[in-house]
Amino acid sequence: MRQSSYFAPTLKENPAEAQVVSHRLMLRAGMIRQVTSGIYNYLPLGLKVLKKVENIIREEMNAAGAQEILMPMVQPLELWKETGRDAKYGTELLRIKDRHDRDFCLGPTHEEVITDLVRNNVQSYKQLPIMLYQIQTKFRDEVRPRFGLMRGREFLMKDCYSFDVSIDNAKKSYELMQKSYHRIFNRLGLDWRMVYADTGDIGGDYSHEFHVLAETGEDTLIFDTDGDYAVNVEKHDADTCAIPSERLKEAKGIEVGHIFLLEGTYSAPMNANVLGDDGKEATIQMGCYGIGVSRIVAAAIEQNYDEKGIIWPEQLAPFNIHIINLRAKDDDCNNACEKLYSQFKEQNYDVLYDDRDIGAGQKFSDADLIGCPWQCTIGPRGLKDSIAEWKNRRTGETTNLPLGEIPQALVGKAA
Ligand code: ATP
Ligand code: MG
Repeated sequence: MRQSSYFAPTLKENPAEAQVVSHRLMLRAGMIRQVTSGIYNYLPLGLKVLKKVENIIREEMNAAGAQEILMPMVQPLELWKETGRDAKYGTELLRIKDRHDRDFCLGPTHEEVITDLVRNNVQSYKQLPIMLYQIQTKFRDEVRPRFGLMRGREFLMKDCYSFDVSIDNAKKSYELMQKSYHRIFNRLGLDWRMVYADTGDIGGDYSHEFHVLAETGEDTLIFDTDGDYAVNVEKHDADTCAIPSERLKEAKGIEVGHIFLLEGTYSAPMNANVLGDDGKEATIQMGCYGIGVSRIVAAAIEQNYDEKGIIWPEQLAPFNIHIINLRAKDDDCNNACEKLYSQFKEQNYDVLYDDRDIGAGQKFSDADLIGCPWQCTIGPRGLKDSIAEWKNRRTGETTNLPLGEIPQALVGKAA
């Protein structure tokens, strides 16, 4: 992608409205722009990262045997009345009316819609288990939308639902999803922890939250430095806890995922039943599994930045390599850059090429701000010796490499 025609309006100054690093840097790097409180436009750079997160999640959901569907954003309120959630959900639920004065809402989550879909199309235990998921925009009229994508009103979520004939089978689906979440968060390249969450009256090990560790996290976690115990501080009881206090460590976390065994919470009131192998009607046993896709983009930045800008982990980087042409008016510089640009593309790297006719200072500061893992700078001085400067954005380490060796030197480095 040539930067001269790329829609990534960067900002030199910190926007006053942004209180946390990720919000500030996403605005400054030209990834997002606010439309109104808690509602954003994703610009090309922002959308590119969002898609990378989305694809890792999609691949792992498919690998776990879940099938992708897409449900509507607008939901009839009648379904919410069946579970009593129209009253319980409160003002986060944005209610709307159509021209016939019928009640609808904008979907903050999809348990009712999917339970309705399954009860109308699954009759026998032979059709189970089934796991369905979607990656879709949710709307929650949050009391305090803040921190950019971290707590939006409109945001992208992956929500998956499992349907089983018995509680034991539902627990197996839950455990499968839990493993899938481990793979997803490892692949995202983030420092994360799984913590026990409130299971209400279900009991046992069947509700977990997944947190990305970051100073700006809204939750406080306590975990054993030498074992598996990890909880949200709200659920930690310093007594009853058998682990010696010196082994426990506190950290701030951003909740990026939540998995929950629902059992019959929705299927029972909605009469979602199947005929079991004993010939008797049985309530379908459900689980639900959410991931905050857009929140992950923000959380990744909270964990990967310095005073100059974002430092993308390879897996999430909008581009692997940023070519910086220091003299866009110079034929030799242009030719050398164009050659590298096509060589990188042939090797399937995603490349951003700064071919803009502006000062070198601005180019360097934009490159550090946008945060691609590798920068390759070409200028008249180096070119005399057929050399380009190669910089690792994370370590700041620079090396001068002969132009001919660059594509080779990259192999095994950039993902
Ligand atoms: P929170 O406690 O942060 O409000 P929640 O318990 O309401 O989260 P869930 O209903 O479990 O969240 O939704 C699944 C995931 O969606 C969450 O783990 C989180 O990553 C993401 N999420 C929830 N609310 C928002 C929001 N307002 N903006 C961005 N992502 C969100
Ligand atoms: Mg919430």
